[in-house]
Amino acid sequence: MKSIEEQIAELKEKRGAVIVAHNYQLDEVQAIADFTGDSLELSRKVATLPNDVVVFCGVHFMAETAAILSPEKTILISDPQAGCPMADMITADAVRRLKAEHPGAKVVCYVNSPADVKAESDICCTSSNAVKVVESLGNAEVIFVPDRNLGSFVAGRLGRALILYNGFCPTHERIRDVDVLELKAKYPGALVLAHPECNRPVRELADELLSTGQMCRFAQASDHKEFIVATEFGINYRLRNENPGKTFHPVNPDRAVCPNMKKITLEKVLWSLQDMKHRVTVPESIACRAAGAIQRMLEI
Ligand code: SF4
Repeated sequence: MKSIEEQIAELKEKRGAVIVAHNYQLDEVQAIADFTGDSLELSRKVATLPNDVVVFCGVHFMAETAAILSPEKTILISDPQAGCPMADMITADAVRRLKAEHPGAKVVCYVNSPADVKAESDICCTSSNAVKVVESLGNAEVIFVPDRNLGSFVAGRLGRALILYNGFCPTHERIRDVDVLELKAKYPGALVLAHPECNRPVRELADELLSTGQMCRFAQASDHKEFIVATEFGINYRLRNENPGKTFHPVNPDRAVCPNMKKITLEKVLWSLQDMKHRVTVPESIACRAAGAIQRMLEI
């Protein structure tokens, strides 16, 4: 009997498919992926790959972004229920209301948002480029949606006020400053790496605030041997694999787990390839405008 990994590999070959996985996916899903990365890295990667079929192991907005950037490809998500609570906190109507309240302001939209919200925005950003994106708008008043934590991180870095929407990532909210302090006391030599989706008290304890892709590159390049990692637990698989001589201490590993990211399993990836399900598409009228906001980000 063939293992599930072998069955996936065979079907992937037959379908001419490629599998990409976000850094927060289950270890075994990351292990069978052709590429792993953060949302910006994966969107870029998908657009350059020759494959017509992409199994996107991540949450829905990520697959949607890939579908917007590569409308000619078949983008599959193995579980259509793998959503993002932060993305669900914002609607296109809410953005239109904010624009009416602040005429002339530019809307910067974190990619963790639905396609119709991106379509209402001037430009998108990810956690790795949010500071640069806002900076590129000069002195314009900026409405930042939906993540209040990433928005306040950007505001702090640039020393200016932004109009923040009150969205947040429930997984990163469960990472507390007391958890970080406890690990710092236990491992005083360790560097603290935190994701900007963490709340301010956690961010203030960090030595480096980085997207997951940046964390992976930073850990490899750093002379440090020990790190405290304040983000979703799944990143530790890649950090440990890529840095065998280094030690990583995840903050609150039982609670810093995104249940939506974990909905993608090996079985569901196999079923996706068997049945070519579930295709993610975006209506053209929304995709066109959302693509503009994403492209403006990619140009920066
Ligand atoms: S970790 Fe947070 S932002 Fe990322 S998919 Fe899960 S809920 Fe959404």
